[in-house]
Amino acid sequence: MNLILMGAPGAGKGTQAEKIAAQYQIPAVSTGEILRGAISAGTELGKTAKSYMDAGQLVPDDIVIGIVKEHLGSDACRNGFILDGFPRSIPQAQALEDLGVKIDVVLSIEVDDSIIVERMSGRRVCPSCGASYHTAYIPPKTADICDKCGTGLIIRKDDKPETVLNRLHTYHAQTEPLKAFYAERGLLRTVVGQEKVEDTTALVFAALQTERT
Ligand code: ADP
Ligand code: ZN
Repeated sequence: MNLILMGAPGAGKGTQAEKIAAQYQIPAVSTGEILRGAISAGTELGKTAKSYMDAGQLVPDDIVIGIVKEHLGSDACRNGFILDGFPRSIPQAQALEDLGVKIDVVLSIEVDDSIIVERMSGRRVCPSCGASYHTAYIPPKTADICDKCGTGLIIRKDDKPETVLNRLHTYHAQTEPLKAFYAERGLLRTVVGQEKVEDTTALVFAALQTERT
């Protein structure tokens, strides 16, 4: 299954991508993760991306398109993949089509802006393995420590309140038009994000199942 996961920042794409990856045994390719990895590694790519990300803006299309091209061509993605956070603009979606990448489903997780803002304030991530948590909704077993690898959790710089509002604005202006793009192609499925992660996961799995029959 070749899947695109969409949704506003903080809608829970990353969390659901992990669940789908485990269930379907396909890798999640997160452009946000890859870019953050490049920033920690201090590469040229990371230096370029950082200023955009810290401002809540999209990293230029040619950069992310290059990243995705590289990953989708890898062996790991042979039996399917989950694109988490890509495409995020019409030119990116067009580029994916032009590359001849076949997409089976585009799943959009819908969450109101007001809920997003509240959620982001509690978000914590593992700088080592990328796992995500929330102080209220998905707390780690030990406060501020990653369940998976024991690393201390951090608040992402772009989770600061003013950046969150910029990211939401960017989402509505540049990414949301993709829903119409993929609806036209008969690929769009939507799921309303629930308060509990497992409730959203159940809806996500149901939506994916329907698609496959
Ligand atoms: P979220 O979905 O919560 O905003 P991500 O980790 O997906 O978090 O993305 C973080 C940031 O990385 C974005 O705000 C943007 O600056 C950059 N980014 C990620 N994916 C893309 C993309 N496909 N195109 C452009 N910028 C991207
Ligand atoms: Zn970790």
